[in-house]
Amino acid sequence: MPASSELPPQYDPSAVEARLYRTWLERGAFAPTAGPGREPYVIVIPPPNVTGVLHMGHGLNNTIQDVLIRFERARGRETLWLPGTDHAGIATQNVVERLIAKEGKTRFDLGREAFVERVWAFVRDTGNTILEQLKQIGASCDWTRTRFTLDPAYTRAVREVFVRLWEEQLIYRGHRVIHWCPRCLTALSDEEAEFHETSGNLYYIRYPLADGSGHITVATTRPETLLGDTAIVVHPEDPRGAPFIGKRVKLPITGIEIPVLADEAVDKEFGTGFVKVTPAHDANDFEIGLRHGLAMPLIMRENGTMGDDDGRADRRSGGRDGATTDGPTDRPTARVPKDLVGVDRFEARKKIVKQLEAVGLLAKVESHQHAVRRCYRCDSIVEPRLSDQWFVKMKPLAEPVLAAYRAGEITIVPERWNATFLNWMENIRDWNISRQLWWGHRIPVFTCTKCKHEWADREDKTTCPKCGGPVEQDPDVLDTWFSSWLWPFATLGWPDETADLRRYYPGHTLVTAPEILFFWVARMLMAGFHFMGRKPFTTVYLTGTVRDAQHRRMSKSLGNGIDPLDVVRLYGADALRWTLIASGSLGADVILDHNDLETTFATGRNFANKLWNIARFLLPHLPTEAIPIEAVHPKTLTLADRWMLSRTEGAIAEATGALEQFRLDEAAKRCFELAWGELADWYVETVKPRLAAGDVGARAASAVLLHSWDTALRLLHPIVPFITEELWQRLPGRRAGELLITASWPAPDRRRIDPRVEAEFGAVQQAITAIRNIRAEYRVSPKLKLAAAIRAAGPAARGVFESERETIVRLAQLESVTSDGAALQGAHAVLSDGSEVVVALTGAIDLGQECRRLSDELSRLDKQLEALAAKLANEQFISRAPADVVARERQKEQAWRTQRDALAGKLAALGCG
Ligand SMILES: [Zn+2]
Ligand SMILES: [Zn+2]
Repeated sequence: MPASSELPPQYDPSAVEARLYRTWLERGAFAPTAGPGREPYVIVIPPPNVTGVLHMGHGLNNTIQDVLIRFERARGRETLWLPGTDHAGIATQNVVERLIAKEGKTRFDLGREAFVERVWAFVRDTGNTILEQLKQIGASCDWTRTRFTLDPAYTRAVREVFVRLWEEQLIYRGHRVIHWCPRCLTALSDEEAEFHETSGNLYYIRYPLADGSGHITVATTRPETLLGDTAIVVHPEDPRGAPFIGKRVKLPITGIEIPVLADEAVDKEFGTGFVKVTPAHDANDFEIGLRHGLAMPLIMRENGTMGDDDGRADRRSGGRDGATTDGPTDRPTARVPKDLVGVDRFEARKKIVKQLEAVGLLAKVESHQHAVRRCYRCDSIVEPRLSDQWFVKMKPLAEPVLAAYRAGEITIVPERWNATFLNWMENIRDWNISRQLWWGHRIPVFTCTKCKHEWADREDKTTCPKCGGPVEQDPDVLDTWFSSWLWPFATLGWPDETADLRRYYPGHTLVTAPEILFFWVARMLMAGFHFMGRKPFTTVYLTGTVRDAQHRRMSKSLGNGIDPLDVVRLYGADALRWTLIASGSLGADVILDHNDLETTFATGRNFANKLWNIARFLLPHLPTEAIPIEAVHPKTLTLADRWMLSRTEGAIAEATGALEQFRLDEAAKRCFELAWGELADWYVETVKPRLAAGDVGARAASAVLLHSWDTALRLLHPIVPFITEELWQRLPGRRAGELLITASWPAPDRRRIDPRVEAEFGAVQQAITAIRNIRAEYRVSPKLKLAAAIRAAGPAARGVFESERETIVRLAQLESVTSDGAALQGAHAVLSDGSEVVVALTGAIDLGQECRRLSDELSRLDKQLEALAAKLANEQFISRAPADVVARERQKEQAWRTQRDALAGKLAALGCG
């Protein structure tokens, strides 16, 4: 017989988790297992940034993936959870730039090659950190298939995709206003330039008319851009504009003359109705500029300082340092006055406002709430800037996704994200894919310096295929999402027709944070349809956000984060996983208190301890050999046995259904109820004497125990894999080396689900609970045994109470229970089937004192009720008080009356007289 002494008295996760993870790895338990009838189930991990460290968001998102993978693995699917990391161009480059800044250097000091080598060194050093951390929380990824978005094979896929899109003429060079980060010195996509509500100023500036007949006032939030204005526009139907259209105004400060034009794009409601046009520094103004053939001077450099710029900074020599490219200041078109050249944009704004004020051209300043775009990587305010960039035409890529989505082939859960997704896809804009960075996939566009031939190539080229002249490669790199949008197939060996690609594409579920729905998910869908002809996955599961007790997003800057590895160290990975899964429904935010880890993770830790303790009790009582439940003669099964079996089979069906529908928290709660509530609190307590008897009844009971406990461990495994594996291996009948991780998911035997049995045993539980509640309410000493009676609602109920008399007496701490309570005075309770429980309290409590206490309470309540009734009868109160206040008072009256009736009932039952 396996002895409980095998299990130490306390559960110590640190003694178990690392060992079991090693076992799983060594036994290849994470690799997909092919076999007849095994359908694949594939999840590709959202590749974390290669410089990343695990935070709670990863913890949540990866635990969900692991639960789904372990569930499907147990169900016999050929599961693949494919891991890897993203080179994360801009983020990683920033990290290394900060590192070398500590040495007083910039990337330009190192030069492109040395800088990129430096980044590689950093990545080789630290790039595995986050994957190692994922192992600590139990992630069962197939690590043999780990990918990195800059691997040579992956690079080949990126090149292939770029060249194909080029050949299909879906990639083009655009000269237009893009979002520019003056800190990162790169263009950003629309999604990377995030909106933030900001309180700023709206400056009203007077532009004198060239003929001296007055002035036009315009409003702007960015006065420094007036240096680049090339027109004033007004709506053609705005009567305020008519007298001025066709006239010219002088730019304040520089005196350069610009025309006043009519344009329908002007918002008549904004400011004065007149709008300044800075085509090189505003996307809308750029469109206006195109319509009217306006000049488009750049008046700011790439680093955010003021200065005339021809927009052709020499990228090839790496000389993008704004400080060294003053631009030809002697050009006739120079627009930036000498005293502002080299001045930072925000400093320049102050100076210009001061100068305007001095010459009386600042009409007024209003404070103004508006949305400002900031760089998603460094938080700098993004500067709109006219620039040459590569774009992908997105409409043709979006169409097949939209069609499939509308046909219901792709599902996003939870439901609420669907409208956002659809709106974005329907209004999709072209994607700026070039970044002025060094770390990433270099754009494979080559230009002949001799004949100017320009083409995209799968191979690096040094000579022109047309004239043999020397060639130069585009210096920019691709947006990091231009590689990660290929993740579901590039990781499987595409463009080669590999066995993995055939087997594991398309995948099934994608689990990720909603923040990257557009960055990544939508684009993966587009790439999947375009390059593979099929969707990359069927369901997109968007997780909630992890927040602190004040519901603020956890962040480094707020210092309110919780390190998941701290939780693993303190309470174990299972406690972490349990809390993350059980505390939030599908897509709901998860609230964790960073100031109180103890309480926050208590449920998970206590549950692990409880499972441990259940095992310690059960192991000595389990049969030495596995007895299949089918082998137990039905005649030897008691009501409690049949109830336990019914609840167990019900739990299988419910947990399975919940997991299939991604309601992970419901699965967790049902399994918790099975193990702790039904098995430990009720069934074990009920069968203790039978187990001790050691006869045929004991054999039946221990078979039921084994079956239910085995089932509970299997069902709980996806959520708390470590403790369940540890305990499951100690069950009788395990073959050497058998692992729970690869054991089969239980199938419910629905013949055992018996509502009548559940109702009958349910009535017994209710009676016991009612008596326990009465004991607690009257503070009866736990040692004291009471007399009770149960008046059954009918003959069937009477039969059940009679046959379960022993259980009721023992679990409710009774001396006796009779079926006729007429003679008993005491507390009573009515069960849901109408049966009534009476508990004698004479001798158990000081009846006189209890009567006094209750009648005092009754008279206090009577007084309160009287006052409230008077208030509610008062016409003035009723007519003057707000309706909701009156309604609340009426509700209060109702509640007090109910309380009063209960008290009166108690007094009568106790015979207080
Ligand atoms: Zn930035
Ligand atoms: Zn050539």
